[in-house]
Amino acid sequence: MSKNNEKEFMDFRSDTVTKPTQAMRQAMFDAMVGDDVYGDDPTVNKLEEEAAKRLGKEAALFVPSGTFGNQLALFTHCQRGDEVILADDCHIVAHEAGAAAVIAGVQLRTITFPGGIPVPDEIKKRVRATGDIHEPKTALICLENALGNGRVVPLTVMKEISGIAKEYNVPIHLDGARIFNAALALGVEAREIAAYVDSVQFCLSKGLCSPVGSILAGTTAFIGNARRKRKIMGGGMRQAGVLAAPGLIALNEMTKRLGEDHETAKLLGRELAAIKGVTVEPVEINMVFFHIDGTGFPYERFAGAMFERGFLVNGESRGPLRMVTHNDVTAEDVKKAAAAIKEIVGQ
Ligand SMILES: *Cc1c(COP(=O)(O)O)cnc(C)c1O
Repeated sequence: MSKNNEKEFMDFRSDTVTKPTQAMRQAMFDAMVGDDVYGDDPTVNKLEEEAAKRLGKEAALFVPSGTFGNQLALFTHCQRGDEVILADDCHIVAHEAGAAAVIAGVQLRTITFPGGIPVPDEIKKRVRATGDIHEPKTALICLENALGNGRVVPLTVMKEISGIAKEYNVPIHLDGARIFNAALALGVEAREIAAYVDSVQFCLSKGLCSPVGSILAGTTAFIGNARRKRKIMGGGMRQAGVLAAPGLIALNEMTKRLGEDHETAKLLGRELAAIKGVTVEPVEINMVFFHIDGTGFPYERFAGAMFERGFLVNGESRGPLRMVTHNDVTAEDVKKAAAAIKEIVGQ
């Protein structure tokens, strides 16, 4: 392990905690740069071209974060007062600090999907197509894949929703923060998922280990409009090639190793399932969700007990608990974590 990646705690809070690799740090050092607001940064241009190609889209835009990319998509697809149909527990609704009201000024029409997998008919029912002046206009449908609950949406479901969207001429934005994890779990290329949507955001900075940044991809016209709106949002970055350089490694190299994270997650799932009183939800990507109700150990004391043993996990007062595997945790770390959990909940 390199000095830069030296760790004191084994950190299972999220894949956002991944540190850039040595190769990324070197690429940042060596990056050719220019003023990207003038379109002069060759490294940003290369990342945008390669990301677009990888997703099967015409064009792409480098943005500072996943939240930025999602909100920029809303801002670009919609007019103020328009309505967006999406799941009530999706990232845009639950974890973006109400940004849709502040930036795009849209109304969010949320749907509860038990288990998280979207139900096409429920979306269809909510599309407003009468043109009645009393009604907001349905301007966008937002989907997520992989879902924040670690599950993956089957392509058949994506396809059915795409058909509904086309029928009503409503675009779809995909929050694909972990689209490469989803693709791996589905056994397809990311572009096969992206084919069912008009725009897609994915994070370079999570399991792909880049320090900063996301990509928003879509048609040339859409990305042209988004480039202007990114400027409005203060996201026009100058010598951003130092951030795009690790982004290229994230896209081209780190996507190849996500299988290791899925394997360590499955290992953790198996180890936890073997502990009496612990129940584990199906593991599809690099996230393990589990319940400790059966052990009698209180949820609110779990994170603290793990901390004392050298592990970082997010606290949850009611559960389920979540642990995330990534480039900076090994199978050995996973086994140690499972052993610590067994000790904690067995007390
Ligand atoms: C992390 C995440 C985002 C946002 O990314 P940030 O870079 O943290 O703003 C969006 N959607 C999902 C599903 C995510 O997991």
